[in-house]
Amino acid sequence: MPEVILEAVDLKYSYPDGTNALRKVCLQVEKGERLAILGSNGAGKSTLFMQFNGIYRPNSGCIKYQGRDITYSNKALIELRKKVGIVFQDPDSQLFSASVYQDISFGPLNLGLSEEIVAARVKQALIDTETTDLVDKPTHLLSYGQKKRVSIAGVLAMEPEVIIFDEPTAGLDPRHALEFMQLLKKLRDSGKTIIISTHDVDLAYSFSDRIAIMCSGEIIGHGEPSELFLQSDLIQRADLALPWLIEMHSELVKKGWLPPSTPLPKTKEDLLRNIPPKSDQQSA
Ligand code: ADP
Repeated sequence: MPEVILEAVDLKYSYPDGTNALRKVCLQVEKGERLAILGSNGAGKSTLFMQFNGIYRPNSGCIKYQGRDITYSNKALIELRKKVGIVFQDPDSQLFSASVYQDISFGPLNLGLSEEIVAARVKQALIDTETTDLVDKPTHLLSYGQKKRVSIAGVLAMEPEVIIFDEPTAGLDPRHALEFMQLLKKLRDSGKTIIISTHDVDLAYSFSDRIAIMCSGEIIGHGEPSELFLQSDLIQRADLALPWLIEMHSELVKKGWLPPSTPLPKTKEDLLRNIPPKSDQQSA
């Protein structure tokens, strides 16, 4: 049985203005998995994330970390935030120190680590996010994409077990978005549990081991990506499109270029590999 590391149990949350952001969310996150929470704007993804590391407290229900209800004392929250790190969608809400080095080192220094260990962690986080050349720059002079990468570095330097990314590739140029995806793969290979929120179906499909679909403050379905996208009623209810790889696969099946039994491709390379050579198509 896979170990559940983080869990939302019957979670309900309304904002002070009465907005019912989470209606009754139940979700288990398995240790070491790559989970995408997919949903359109306003579905409740960011609100759920704020519950996951105790920034918001549910009106009812609870969050469990490694099987234990989280408590909201200062000490418990500090412990929780060592384990569960969030990279927010807007980097300006995350960066507050004068220089990039100060910003990335802030979290690890607060953990009481030695200057030497902090320096080593900052160095690695700078390498992982390709921000080494920005180390002495004032944070307010960075571009949006640079701020985003520095905010990721700040969370990596804390070395949390679970890393949550809210709309991680929003605002990144294509090269840095691709590099970010490679970084996610590396983090996953090193055993981290990764959760991302996105409304990008292609990103969710190619990135994740499992997808949870969120709509109007509820998780309305979850499962292995290729099984989930075959449930068209679910996809329509959440106002989502199909990933281009699945669209293309269906078109090729319709045209008779692929046998219907062909497994769904996970990458562009899978899709191309599935297409029979021209000689087979002519003789078919
Ligand atoms: P998502 O991340 O999926 O876009 P959010 O969690 O940001 O969704 O928002 C869920 C709902 O809560 C939306 O209806 C949104 O307008 C509302 N909401 C978010 N933040 C606040 C807030 N601070 N006060 C009141 N309503 C909010």
